[in-house]
Amino acid sequence: MSLIDLRSDTVTQPTEAMREAMARAPLGDDVYGEDPTVNRLEAYLAERLGFAAALFVPTGTMSNLLGLLAHCERGDEYIVGQQAHTYRYEGGGAAVLGSIQPQPIEMEADGSLDLARVAAYIKEDDFHFARTRLLALENTMQGKVLPLDYLARARSFTRERGLALHLDGARLFNAAVKLGVDAQEIARHFDSVSVCLSKGLGAPIGSVLCGSQALIDKARRWRKMVGGGMRQAGMLAAAGLHALEHQVERLAEDHANAQLLAEQLRGLGFEVEPVQTNMVYVQMGDQAGALKARAAEQGIKLSTAPRTRLVTHLDFHAEHIPRVRELFAGFR
Ligand SMILES: *Cc1c(COP(=O)(O)O)cnc(C)c1O
Repeated sequence: MSLIDLRSDTVTQPTEAMREAMARAPLGDDVYGEDPTVNRLEAYLAERLGFAAALFVPTGTMSNLLGLLAHCERGDEYIVGQQAHTYRYEGGGAAVLGSIQPQPIEMEADGSLDLARVAAYIKEDDFHFARTRLLALENTMQGKVLPLDYLARARSFTRERGLALHLDGARLFNAAVKLGVDAQEIARHFDSVSVCLSKGLGAPIGSVLCGSQALIDKARRWRKMVGGGMRQAGMLAAAGLHALEHQVERLAEDHANAQLLAEQLRGLGFEVEPVQTNMVYVQMGDQAGALKARAAEQGIKLSTAPRTRLVTHLDFHAEHIPRVRELFAGFR
């Protein structure tokens, strides 16, 4: 019986074709700027998203951190959602390493930040206050896609208020595929975008920060400082390039599987939130603990909670759905 893992889209194994691309990649020392494959990945993604420059880093956490450090100085602050990865799930890195103060605010149900509320939190220029420098958004946010017209409004709002705009686009391509637009249509509203290669795209490691040349030069200095300068990293960049060239359109399959999964669970009588991309949220209430144990017995890995999240990915197939349905059927 094959293992089914619905904890995250980070659990995928590189495909044979990806492994071959990694093995064949021309390499050099990237700290000297001499790894041709890293250089190719950075140039490729910068161009694809419409930025002047890009920087390859090991993780999305580092990519977001470098973005925050490059936009903000000591004593600056960024406005961010309470549930955003860049506030909640990155160990407080911007505060710890950059002396940058987060100003978290409540999020809207669609994953956006209400711009009137953002405006109310921008601090005036007064030495009592941290200097508000940046607004950080996330797309997709818990599987939800931010509307393009909202992004346009956030862009003009931040321009008017003299703020920079950063996107945690860990799942940027899920958003683009869902909207049926080029990823650049999303990215163009931002001053910097962080993209994860190791989520739905299926690479084993890697994220890329995109921005202006000046921003990326600054981020590159910080990357060295925090220990992210890698050497023959082209082996890893090759996996990311392969993913970007061959595994973007495929995200639609993950979205379709998430829809199917949601329909099955609804059919069983579960309360399931509307699905937009590759995440299914199902209300398990106090059955969450029992669900985890039963799932493990049946070779299904879940991160259970009262609001349980199921994530579809490269290694989850429509054929797996009946087994998941059967597991949940035991709780009705
Ligand atoms: C996964 C993720 C990141 C970065 O995660 P790493 O595990 O550090 O690569 C950042 N933001 C979001 C929304 C994520 O899902």
